[in-house]
Amino acid sequence: MWDAIECTEDQKSILNTVKKFVEKEVLPRSAELDAHPNPEDGYSQEIIAEANKLGIRTMTLSEEWGGLAASSLTTSMVVEALGRGDIGVSVAFAQTLKIAQIMEKALTEEQKSRVLPAFVDDPTAMLAIGITEPDNASNYFLPHPAPFNTVAERIEGGWVVNGMKHFISNGNRAKFYLLFVQTEKEKTLSTGSTCFLVERDRPGFTIGRVHDKMGERLANNAELIFQDCFIPDENVIGETGKGFGVLAEFFPQSNAYAGASVLGCADALYEKALDWAKIRVQGGKPLIEHDGIRAQLSEMQMLLDVARTYIHKACYLADNQEKGWNKTLGVYPKAFASQTGWKIATWCLEIHGGHGYMKEFGVEKLVRDAAAFLHSDGVNRTLFLKAANFIYAD
Ligand SMILES: Cc1cc2nc3c(=O)[nH]c(=O)nc-3n(C[C@H](O)[C@H](O)[C@H](O)COP(=O)(O)OP(=O)(O)OC[C@H]3O[C@@H](n4cnc5c(N)ncnc54)[C@H](O)[C@@H]3O)c2cc1C
Repeated sequence: MWDAIECTEDQKSILNTVKKFVEKEVLPRSAELDAHPNPEDGYSQEIIAEANKLGIRTMTLSEEWGGLAASSLTTSMVVEALGRGDIGVSVAFAQTLKIAQIMEKALTEEQKSRVLPAFVDDPTAMLAIGITEPDNASNYFLPHPAPFNTVAERIEGGWVVNGMKHFISNGNRAKFYLLFVQTEKEKTLSTGSTCFLVERDRPGFTIGRVHDKMGERLANNAELIFQDCFIPDENVIGETGKGFGVLAEFFPQSNAYAGASVLGCADALYEKALDWAKIRVQGGKPLIEHDGIRAQLSEMQMLLDVARTYIHKACYLADNQEKGWNKTLGVYPKAFASQTGWKIATWCLEIHGGHGYMKEFGVEKLVRDAAAFLHSDGVNRTLFLKAANFIYAD
């Protein structure tokens, strides 16, 4: 279902590899992993290691650093294909792929030489980004004049960080983190924060709770806790006090990758609804021959096509900004894809009747998964307000 834009031969080859990987490594395990009561047990190092053998984990890095130099468009196609297998697997990789992309652009040569080989050479190393705090969440999407509560004190040679982040995707699985910290306390989070590079084994940094989530259980989200954690000046990314500049400059495709993850899940729900409509006979004929159901399936197909086209447009223009990028493309595609995913989830459930409510039919897991992106990467309402602030700025 990645035909909104005609694929190049390279893209076809990568996507066929990912499709086979999903069929062999993800789909057979996803229901069992999802069912583990302990959230940490839903995450599979084996799946990550197998994907690494195929080059998926590092594909956004340039060839110089051992990657495939995949464009944002190709990456969004891969993220969607992974999401068709499982949204959690897709998210774990989408985060890592996008942060690797940011790192290659935003890190200094010295930082890259410390980080990228260590990331590439470790087959299960993942990446994470820590922005959200218990008291600062939408405040970051709609910059509110509050500071981050995770703060840094200046000392000789670096900074001492105290505070915590929560809900962080790959939080307990990452080898390196991009961390947003308040370095100028009298300013707001958008004017006085700094982006730091943090290594997993840095003294003073520990992992707190791993969140027990409703869905997307094959990915882990965790708290990051900083207690007198010294971070040297060499780990400042960009300029001190300009953390938000790092996000604005190096992050354009983040929202579209999030949309691609939930789109993959929505694809899977549509396929389930279609298959069921073909085999379930009521009223003397298969459900698909009843006009109401037939029209609903057709509407699902339209919504999926539009969501995919929007994501592809945003990804292509994120890499080719001179051809017409505008800031709403960093906001709307995820909102549209997640609303589409949620609508298709409820329709798929409805088409299955009581069967959809029974776990053995596999719809229930996908419905829980489809809810993940109504809030992740920004609550949709907040994103609409953010876009409004771009559109109606003057
Ligand atoms: C699965 C998942 C993965 C995530 N991964 C990461 C990650 O890797 N890194 C990271 O940093 N964060 C991550 N997050 C955090 C995510 O970005 C936040 O959950 C999100 O920004 C919303 O924050 P909140 O849940 O605290 O909601 P709140 O900000 O408390 O919002 C609650 C409600 O109030 C509304 N609201 C808030 N402010 C306003 C306003 N000014 N005007 C009008 N309405 C408003 C919101 O729209 C929402 O409906 C993740 C979250 C989830 C669920």
